[in-house]
Order: sequence, then structure tokens, then C-alpha cells
Amino acid sequence: GASAGSGVPKASDLGTKVRAKPRTSSTNRVLVTGGAGFVGSHLCDFLVARGDTVICLDNFFTGDKSNIAHLIGKPNFELIRHDVVEPIPLEVDQVYHLACPASPVHYKYNPVKTIKTNVIGTLNMLGLAKRVRARFLLTSTSEVYGDPLQHPQTEDYWGNVNPIGERSCYDEGKRVAETLAFDYHREHNLEVRVARIFNTYGPRMALDDGRVVSNFVSQALMGTPMTVYGDGSQTRSFQYVSDLVAGLVALMDGDHTGPMNIGNPGEFTMLELANVVKEVVNPDAKITFRPNTADDPGRRKPDITRAKTLLGWEPKVALRDGLVKMKDDFAERLGLNKSK
Ligand code: NAD
Ligand code: UDP
Ligand code: UDP
Repeated sequence: GASAGSGVPKASDLGTKVRAKPRTSSTNRVLVTGGAGFVGSHLCDFLVARGDTVICLDNFFTGDKSNIAHLIGKPNFELIRHDVVEPIPLEVDQVYHLACPASPVHYKYNPVKTIKTNVIGTLNMLGLAKRVRARFLLTSTSEVYGDPLQHPQTEDYWGNVNPIGERSCYDEGKRVAETLAFDYHREHNLEVRVARIFNTYGPRMALDDGRVVSNFVSQALMGTPMTVYGDGSQTRSFQYVSDLVAGLVALMDGDHTGPMNIGNPGEFTMLELANVVKEVVNPDAKITFRPNTADDPGRRKPDITRAKTLLGWEPKVALRDGLVKMKDDFAERLGLNKSK
């Protein structure tokens, strides 16, 4: 026990549980990798507002300082420029591991780097979590289901993925990342959480992101035709970013490892999406057709029974409402008059 009178335990009393830095309060210390990106910055906002001490780590490949500029200077926020492919020692209680380009345009730009980020980057962050006994959450993706033969997709579906295609650096990369997370859980008793995120949109998506919602919204705002790839009959299910943040936090703070689908089951063809964007953003918007990309999944829709039952979570924001919020943010960043 502690020596009489001082009330301070000696380091030797603490044995292997000794921490590198004594904790002065019960504050939750959280590492958010990829924290300067689209989803990461909204997650940082939530955690900082809740009173956690947040370390945002990012190499700014697709993220931007402007996404977290308003947090700089807050006493419970810290920013580190670092690439997760390189090891780094940090002392935290929770790790939200988001670092990875998410748009097909970005992850295909340097596919070998994407694989390194998913494999070596995830290994490093798991090694960090293991060293400090932190809880680790991986943001995996609906892409692990590939071009799915089961519809809608439940978590026990193993997927239909091309191992040598243009998308493989991302979907196979995330599948390895999931394997690593579960092996650290089984072999080292690490507390892990695996979220399989379905297509998410909202303010702060990069203007050059290349994903379908950001493309259609900026095209409709600029008065250029919305580019529908293929015949536009392929489907996706679109989730607003605040619903995703609520789901990730519920998963991290809850008792279930997952994998857990986090998505909005509202399913739209790309032609339907174009028409909703037209309705919400610009009634004069036109559509033009472009050839589709290789291995594009034909349809995608989450079965969210597991998250509903185990986390008590479900999405709240309908596509039309989310698009309105996104339109205002994009108009401002494109330098357009909001009332247009
Ligand atoms: P994003 O590209 O906006 O954010 C990714 C962030 O990670 C960026 O800030 C980027 O600079 C950073 N990053 C990339 N490589 C890094 C590296 N090697 N080291 C450090 N930082 C690095 O994408 P997003 O939409 O915010 O996605 C966040 C996470 O969620 C990703 O892991 C993605 O795979 C996952 N996800 C997103 C969606 C979606 O629809 N947004 C769907 C499924 C999964
Ligand atoms: N690692 C890290 N930060 C840490 C602890 C580990 O980046 O605080 C890296 C470490 O460099 C290694 C990886 O995480 O490359 C896996 O670590 P682990 O201890 O699991 O494996 P080992 O070092 O034994 O290969
Ligand atoms: N897409 C489209 N027009 C665009 C960008 C994408 O029709 O300008 C299509 C794309 O072919 C795919 C769907 O929209 O079928 C979703 O693509 P995105 O890149 O947003 O995400 P993915 O789900 O493929 O990762």
C-alpha cells in the first residue's frame, strides 16, 4: 500500500500497472487517427464537446486543417501531423482508428500506400493500443462485402471481393485490418470494436473528393451536369455524418466487439439520388452519363438489426434533410451565394 501519511503510492506498489504519466482526473483520453478528415473532424467535435481529451493525428493526405481549425487552442484538443505507417508512442484510453483515404478516387491514386496504411498503419495503432491497454475501434467499411450476393447485408455475410482488382487495396486492406483487430483481441486480450460503415455524406467532405454525393451536390450548385456513372441503376444507402458519429461512439462505449453495420438502410439508385439532389439543391440541374468504374458493386444496403438491438442505435436524418445541410456548407466553400 501507500506509505503512511503521503497518500501517494510508490511506483513499486503499482507494479506493471504503472502509467507513463499519472492521470490527474477521470478524463477520457482519446486518439482519433484521420481526425482532420471528413468523418474524423465531426468525431473530434463530438468528443471535445463531451469533455474528452482528444489527440487528433493526421498526415493531411485527404484531410485538411480547415476541418479542425476551430478546435485548435481548446485546452482538451491536440493536433499531431503524423503518418500511421510509422510507429508512434502515445498514452490514451481509447483509439478511434480512421486514418485511410475513403473515396475511390483517393485510395486508387496510390494503391500501395493505401495497403500500407490499412495493414502497417492498423498494426501500429493496434500495437499502441496493446501497450497502453486502450480500447481500439476500427472504421471498417461495407466494401468488405464486395459486390454482395446477399441483400441486404448482415454482419455474418463473408462477402464477394475481387482480390486483384482496382478496389482491392481498399476492400482487401480493410479485410486484413479487421483480421488484425480480431487477432489482437484473441491473442492479446485487447478490447476491440469493428464498425462497418456504409456510404456517409455531409458537410466538410472534400470538394474534390470524387464520391457521388459530393460530386452531385457541387455539380448541381455550379450548374454543371451531374455525372451518373454507368446506367445509374446501381444502388447505395446514404447515411448523414451525425448519425455515423453517434453510432461510432455507441459502439466504442458499449460492450460489443462487432463487427457492427453502421449505416442508413434507405436505398437509392444513382438516378434516384440525382433526382433528389435536383429537387433539394437546384431544380434546373441536368444529368449526364459516364462509363462506370471497374468492379463497381451493383447494390448495397445495411441490415442494422444488430446495432439497433445491441446498441440501441439507429439513424435519424433522412436524405433530403441531410442534403440541405450539406448544400449550405458546399455553397459557402464554393464561394456561392447561399440564397441561389
Ligand atoms: P477522409 O479521406 O475524409 O478522411 C481520412 C483521413 O485520414 C484524412 O484526414 C487523411 O488525411 C487521413 N489519412 C489517410 N492516410 C493516412 C495515414 N497514412 N496516416 C495518417 N492519416 C492518414 O475519409 P472519411 O470519409 O472521413 O473516412 C474516414 C474513415 O471511415 C476511413 O477509414 C474510411 O475507410 C471509413 N469509411 C468511410 C465511409 C464514408 O462513406 N465516409 C464509408 C466506409 C468507411
Ligand atoms: N507500436 C506503435 N506505438 C506503440 C506501440 C507499438 O506504433 O506505442 C507499433 C510497433 O512499432 C509495432 C506495431 O505497433 O510495429 C505492433 O506492435 P506489437 O507490440 O503488437 O508488435 P511487435 O512490436 O512485437 O512486433
Ligand atoms: N458515382 C456516380 N457519379 C459520380 C461518382 C460516383 O454515379 O460522380 C457512382 C459510382 O459509380 C458508384 C456510386 O456512385 O456506383 C457510389 O460511388 P462512391 O464513389 O460515392 O462510393 P463507393 O460506394 O463506390 O465507395
